[in-house]
Amino acid sequence: MFEDVRDPAARVRAVCQYGCAVEVDPLIPPKRYFRSGREMIRMADVYYDEDNLESAFVLYSKFIALFIEKLPAHPDYKSLGASKEKTNNKQMLKEVFAKAEEVKKKLTEKFEHEEILRREEEVGIYLEERKREEERKVEEERRREEEERMRHEREKRRRQEQEDYFLALKMHEEEKSMHTSKTIPPPPSPPAPSPPIPSPSRASATPPRSPDQLPFVNDMTIPSIPPPSYESTRPEIDRSTKPRTDHFTSTGGQTSNKHGLRDIIVPEELLAKFLRLAQTNSRSNMETCGILCGQLSRNAFTITHLVIPKQTCTPDSCSTHNEEELFEYQDKFDLITLGWIHTHPSQTVFLSSVDLHTHASYQLMMPEAIAIVCSIKFDDIGYLRLTSDHGLNYIANCRKTGFHPHPDNPPLFEACPHVTKNAHGTITVVDLRN
Ligand SMILES: [Zn+2]
Ligand SMILES: [Zn+2]
Repeated sequence: MFEDVRDPAARVRAVCQYGCAVEVDPLIPPKRYFRSGREMIRMADVYYDEDNLESAFVLYSKFIALFIEKLPAHPDYKSLGASKEKTNNKQMLKEVFAKAEEVKKKLTEKFEHEEILRREEEVGIYLEERKREEERKVEEERRREEEERMRHEREKRRRQEQEDYFLALKMHEEEKSMHTSKTIPPPPSPPAPSPPIPSPSRASATPPRSPDQLPFVNDMTIPSIPPPSYESTRPEIDRSTKPRTDHFTSTGGQTSNKHGLRDIIVPEELLAKFLRLAQTNSRSNMETCGILCGQLSRNAFTITHLVIPKQTCTPDSCSTHNEEELFEYQDKFDLITLGWIHTHPSQTVFLSSVDLHTHASYQLMMPEAIAIVCSIKFDDIGYLRLTSDHGLNYIANCRKTGFHPHPDNPPLFEACPHVTKNAHGTITVVDLRN
């Protein structure tokens, strides 16, 4: 996997494989998958238009895997016969195949281009390193020459000083012997301080010194200059920390926030509008439910429509009818199902066992799907979803129906981490009950 990550063809395959990893739940009717398929293509087309080729390719691949491989194995698939959905789906498959081919080609080109850029970048780094190395060598050479030159200079000066000293000493001796001939000269060492003796020719070169300050010829204690330490000052190029374009994110660029879910933007007026429509039911202690629909844009969903389908309600339940009407409306406006909203006239905010099963079918089709619960009695609102590490799996595998107990530890549902409220957003309400 890791050596493949740079190979454009392998990257395209990885995106495709990610999309193909789709499972079909035999308890969810095939009809529901046909619906989900339409929404998948709706999203894929948005990604394609936004030039998010990876996410588009993930969804096209998912669609193909779902309807070519997985759904035909569903126990209820054969009994569908020649349904309208099946025919529509066949037509869609043809189109999706063509789109997937096109995206695959573009994606391959994109990955190839990225690979070329990466290699160019690597060559650039190498050449930069070479250049620095050359500069370092030139600088080192220059310093070595300078040091050598200075050493010569010092040596020359010392020899000169020595010469001057002996010359001065000699002159001094001669002078003395002229004045005090026949007397024994004073002991030569240490030489007595004498008045400055001008050196004949090089007096200006070095200031005269008293003889005992003068260095010995063989004195080799020249202070050595430590060699300059280039290594410690030269910035190292650390390739490991160099930012690099991500070759393939775990989700194929499909998710955006830290929870691995795309954001859902909820206009604040949704609640007021829904509660007004639910008022009559709420006063009679009856539930009301609505479907949340919206659009995808720049990898985030926005709830734009609230559809109230035909429904039968009780104080603790709500079931919808004539879903075809809802689907027609959604198709007409290119809407994606983003979850549902319902009231609890006299109970707190939570998801009942029936609610959990209802929501599982939403969340299985769309991991971001939310359940908004409005407690009328306690004037409380909850934005809930099944926990992705446990709740979704547990409920998808629970075969019981009606109200039934579930163990509540670990928790089956949680508050949504990916909901953003928008004070300015507007919502279109469609009431199909009348
Ligand atoms: Zn409920
Ligand atoms: Zn259950």
